[in-house]
Amino acid sequence: MRTVRTVSDLRQTLQAWRADGDSVALVPTMGALHDGHLALIRIAQSQARRTVVSLFVNPRQFGAGEDLARYPRDEARDATLMREAGANLLYAPEPEAMYPAGFATTVAMEGPAQGMEADTRPGFFAGVCTVVAKLLLQAGADCAVFGEKDYQQLIVVRRLVADLDIETRIVAAPTVRETDGLARSSRNAYLDPGERARAPRLHAVLQEAAAALAAGAPPASTLDDARRALGDHFDALHYLEWRDGETLERATLLDRPGRLLAAVQLGTTRLIDNVAVPSARKAA
Ligand code: AMP
Repeated sequence: MRTVRTVSDLRQTLQAWRADGDSVALVPTMGALHDGHLALIRIAQSQARRTVVSLFVNPRQFGAGEDLARYPRDEARDATLMREAGANLLYAPEPEAMYPAGFATTVAMEGPAQGMEADTRPGFFAGVCTVVAKLLLQAGADCAVFGEKDYQQLIVVRRLVADLDIETRIVAAPTVRETDGLARSSRNAYLDPGERARAPRLHAVLQEAAAALAAGAPPASTLDDARRALGDHFDALHYLEWRDGETLERATLLDRPGRLLAAVQLGTTRLIDNVAVPSARKAA
């Protein structure tokens, strides 16, 4: 597995692969790889002949006071893990290569990029949309794999490629979890043992609420109860929302597949998670 750091080296490698008739899948990451990322790489391999993993801690999606400086970085370890997982190329650009002097463009989105994550992290989706648009245009891959772990981001990326006519198919990967239900995340490394023990409650509450909604429980009180449970257990509840699984518009009925999405604060760490709310089966 080679490492390239410039757009021209990336394009040169991909052009050579294309000349050989090989299809290409891209897996964008911010490094600090864990089993969730490795699952994305495996899915990429099932979708295309060649897999490119990008590693870029995108400064533009971190707000003031967020964890950009302390975000875990270990490129050598990440490179070993992705090589073992079968990736063919690591694309690890420097910030100066992604955002050279004079860089002046921001990709802004409304719709699914509003509310939830955007409420607590202003500027986050502008940063995500800008870097994802760049990565997709730089690579020109046949497909790119994104995790359901960051569900709002996945829907935002789907909207982005549709709106900007980017010819890369977006593939969704299910969330990889610890055995106690906690979604794998690079930020779990911030949790001290006490916080780590409290963390799985996020997924448990989401699952209970999703099961109650799917069983026909009244939505308002079900969501209120879940919000109270998360607010009591964690240091703060940022949001818990029932949304349409495709558009992220507010959901009130079980007529379409939905999603429960939540973010909580646990000490200095922000945890997000989401679960499916299946639509009610139509009567035969
Ligand atoms: P990150 O490095 O956190 O920016 O994540 C890179 C990609 O991996 C994104 O598409 C994430 O949604 C995905 N990802 C992160 N954690 C998980 C997980 N536990 N399961 C599945 N995908 C994940």
